[in-house]
Amino acid sequence: MDNTPITGQCLCGAVRFHISGEFESFFVCHCSRCRKDSGSAHSANLFSPTAKIIWVSGEANIKTFGNPPGN
Ligand SMILES: [Zn+2]
Repeated sequence: MDNTPITGQCLCGAVRFHISGEFESFFVCHCSRCRKDSGSAHSANLFSPTAKIIWVSGEANIKTFGNPPGN
């Protein structure tokens, strides 16, 4: 795999980021949460225990949500 940073942003462009490192796995999930999150029939998810996210802009706009207990 090359070392070209992966870049991304939110739809309005306020949040921009780079990701560097290796990805361990890639899943396309169609569970109810992924459908709701993506607003489509599925969500594409990358997983990595070591990759780093470098926030270029808008980090203060990021929110983290957890699953309710028992779900
Ligand atoms: Zn899912």
